[in-house]
Amino acid sequence: MGIVVYEGVMKTMGGKIDHRPTGLFINNEFVPSVDSKETIDCINPATEDVICSVVAGSVKDIDVAVAAARKAFKTTWGKNVTGFERARLINKLADLIERDAQELAELELSTTGSRDFDIGDSVACLRYYAGWADKILGQAIEVDNKTKFAFTRHDPIGVCGQIIPWNYPINMWSWKVAPALACGCTIVMKPSEITPLTALVSPLLFVDSRRGANFPPGVVNTVPSLGPVGGQALSEHRDVDKVAFTGSTVTGRKIMEAAAKSNLKKVSLELGGKSPQIIFESADLDQAANWVALGILYNTGQDCTAGSRLFVQESIYDKFLDICVSKFKQHKIGDGFDDSSAGGPVVSKMQYDKIFSYIDAGKQAGAKCVLGGEKRAGKGYYVDPTVFVDVTPDMKIVRDEIFGPVLSVAKFKTEEEAIELANDTTYGLGAGLHSTDASQCMRVSQALEAGTVWVNQYNLLNNNVPFGGKKQSGIGRELGSYALEEYTSVKAVHWNYGEKLDWPL
Ligand code: NAP
Ligand code: MG
Repeated sequence: MGIVVYEGVMKTMGGKIDHRPTGLFINNEFVPSVDSKETIDCINPATEDVICSVVAGSVKDIDVAVAAARKAFKTTWGKNVTGFERARLINKLADLIERDAQELAELELSTTGSRDFDIGDSVACLRYYAGWADKILGQAIEVDNKTKFAFTRHDPIGVCGQIIPWNYPINMWSWKVAPALACGCTIVMKPSEITPLTALVSPLLFVDSRRGANFPPGVVNTVPSLGPVGGQALSEHRDVDKVAFTGSTVTGRKIMEAAAKSNLKKVSLELGGKSPQIIFESADLDQAANWVALGILYNTGQDCTAGSRLFVQESIYDKFLDICVSKFKQHKIGDGFDDSSAGGPVVSKMQYDKIFSYIDAGKQAGAKCVLGGEKRAGKGYYVDPTVFVDVTPDMKIVRDEIFGPVLSVAKFKTEEEAIELANDTTYGLGAGLHSTDASQCMRVSQALEAGTVWVNQYNLLNNNVPFGGKKQSGIGRELGSYALEEYTSVKAVHWNYGEKLDWPL
């Protein structure tokens, strides 16, 4: 029944043919589109080969998926399921993803090109929120101690549209799905057109009657679709109660606008960044350089918290730059399927062209490129670690999110100047500082305008610690107990057990 089978993926998986249905996943079934004949090609960025294509869902498909999610919310999920049962199902799902980790990892690698993801983190995220599912509690509030009291309920917010990007597809999937399910929400998921595969395979785990987690139909629905079609339709849908989004600031703005113009649905946005890493003269320079390298090279710089602006204290500038550049040279970028590669290609031709247009802009603006910055011959969207020095705050490479392994370096004299430079951005997602002076660490971490500050480390996240942005890096928080607020609506119930109302007043 119109099911698309993608065999191409398996070419990258040792020639093994494993017929996997894709299509749209609605009501626990893979179904064809109501009206779309379009498909989306999935490309391996290491080889530039098309490895398969999936159905491109339409606006009508979003309507069908939202109706399925609404029905499930009213009948089998929402307030009709205990927290204990939600926990059991989410834990089962985590077990199944863990069991199929290798297959999911290979699928992920086939379209992201990168080894820098962690199926284990996604499993841990599901288990973390399974733990919360039966602990989402309101408060009992004394009002007058004699005749009245009040209590609150943290109700599931309802049907959630979830729109995820391509940089860590399954990880972003778990960050969205896990808290929503724990709170009792139902979901319509729109994966990125570039990396839809793991979001489509994971649902298989929901329904296989012999081995699936067996969530009720309609609780999780997945509609691969183009952003301006399916993503936009979810954002402006009048029967969607909330949209959770990770991606660019430009798209985040459109989503908020669509939400404002339709039903004022709740919106949480995890957007871009231009995060600073500050190195003070007391720092352990060798360690600091390792963290700086991780900060900008992890996932080939395709990371919302990529530490793309480096500020180094004048007295150690030359020495630290030398250490950094030598560390960057040790980072081998190659095909992610090759075990000797530390980093993979960037995800698409579009990203590749975008990154090189920034590298050209940096050179033209007079920044000095001391490492990388050149195209390789041959296939694959490879960008080598690139370092610019002599940058000034007005340059495009310093202001814009590049989303590639491109670092710009500047010096500072004083702590105040470092803070000033670090905060001179419209973004506020991450920031890092290295110093062995504890008072300085405390002062600077307090002054930095960012949702996450890393002290003597960078880019490490934990499922129980909140994550999100200040300024134009986003609204709301993911992870930790904080994410539960994004998927619940607080109801206050006022209860009178004794006061009589005299009438007329
Ligand atoms: P994007 O357009 O923001 O994509 C993120 C998600 O939003 C995708 O699922 C996308 O679908 C969807 N989308 C696109 N247009 C939409 C719309 N009008 N309404 C609702 N959803 C929509 O990002 P991108 O085009 O993939 O990348 C562009 C830049 O964004 C990157 O260069 C990078 O700077 C930044 N970025 C940031 C993050 C992050 O984690 N903060 C992640 C990814 C990208 P499609 O896949 O079909 O476009
Ligand atoms: Mg896009």
